[in-house]
Amino acid sequence: MEPPEIRKLDVEVINRIAAGEIIQRPANALKELIENSLDAKSTNIQITVKNGGLKLLQIQDNGTGIRKEDFEILCERFTTSKLREFEDLHKLITYGFRGEALASISHIAHLTVTSKTKNDICAYQASFVDGKLQGVPKPTAGNQGTIITVEDLFYNMTVRKKALRSPAEEYQKISEVVCKYAIHNSSVGFALKKSGGNNDVRTPVNSTQIENIKIIYGNAIARELIEFSLTNEPFKFKLKGFITNVNYSTKKFQFLLFINNRLVDCHGLKKCIDQVYSTYLPNNAHSFVYLSLELDPGDLDVNIHPTKHEVRFLNEDQIIETIATALETKLLGSNNSRVFFTQA
Ligand code: ADP
Ligand code: MG
Repeated sequence: MEPPEIRKLDVEVINRIAAGEIIQRPANALKELIENSLDAKSTNIQITVKNGGLKLLQIQDNGTGIRKEDFEILCERFTTSKLREFEDLHKLITYGFRGEALASISHIAHLTVTSKTKNDICAYQASFVDGKLQGVPKPTAGNQGTIITVEDLFYNMTVRKKALRSPAEEYQKISEVVCKYAIHNSSVGFALKKSGGNNDVRTPVNSTQIENIKIIYGNAIARELIEFSLTNEPFKFKLKGFITNVNYSTKKFQFLLFINNRLVDCHGLKKCIDQVYSTYLPNNAHSFVYLSLELDPGDLDVNIHPTKHEVRFLNEDQIIETIATALETKLLGSNNSRVFFTQA
């Protein structure tokens, strides 16, 4: 048999494949958009969702806005205001760096951007298809900041659309992302609602992390929270967070982890923490743990996955071990103080 001919893929096909890797479900798209709003120094972020984000995902912020001149290349792949040199990856203070989010979204959804900077007298609005600006940005009314409107996500990816779970489940994922960011970024006000409905999540501007945990996860958790912090010289890390003491237990382990301000997964750390708690809690009971881990940016590789959801860092095993030991001590302390408290 003749070998098949090797051909270069069409650029549109390449872009759609790449987009599907970055945006796997509505919650991924929303995470990128929230990070953009935070990068733009917003203090208020409002999110509106229709049909689990598949029909509509809209995010409005009051950040710096986008310059009208930049609309032309805004949604092209690898256009960013944040990264210039590869080496800068290790000193990034922004969430974004790859300039792929808006481009990706424009390849798999209908994207409209409305934005006003401080110096503009009006806002400008434009839509984008497959990375390209459609027409010229139109002047329109609007406040300072940006509104990103994503409609009909995955309209051109039928298999993906079918594989997704119910709108209710997608909304749940979206809500988790919003809640976690709202807790970590407590100075920023967040709101989430279904189109035409009331806010399901709302945190005030300039709130605190404890206050937001209380608003979002309820008093049962908030009143059993203890502060957990740790500084470690040898492995150059700082840890801060709030965790429930051993009085509190729940069926599902609630684990919120930010590493250098990025919402990430770290299965090793998650498992280890759950294990430490298991000695103190009844069978099959779990805790609530919010941790913010700061590593030396030079020790952290944020570039191992397009969704940036997984990170790798130096001395991972030792750092996890160190955290587990400190947690053990902390829980032991909280256990003693509880016994002491009940006896008193
Ligand atoms: P990245 O965040 O990696 O730079 P994105 O595709 O997410 O790439 O965004 C491209 C650029 O668009 C950003 O670098 C930023 O300049 C601009 N931008 C996107 N969203 C916003 C926003 N909400 N407010 C202000 N600027 C934004
Ligand atoms: Mg971005």
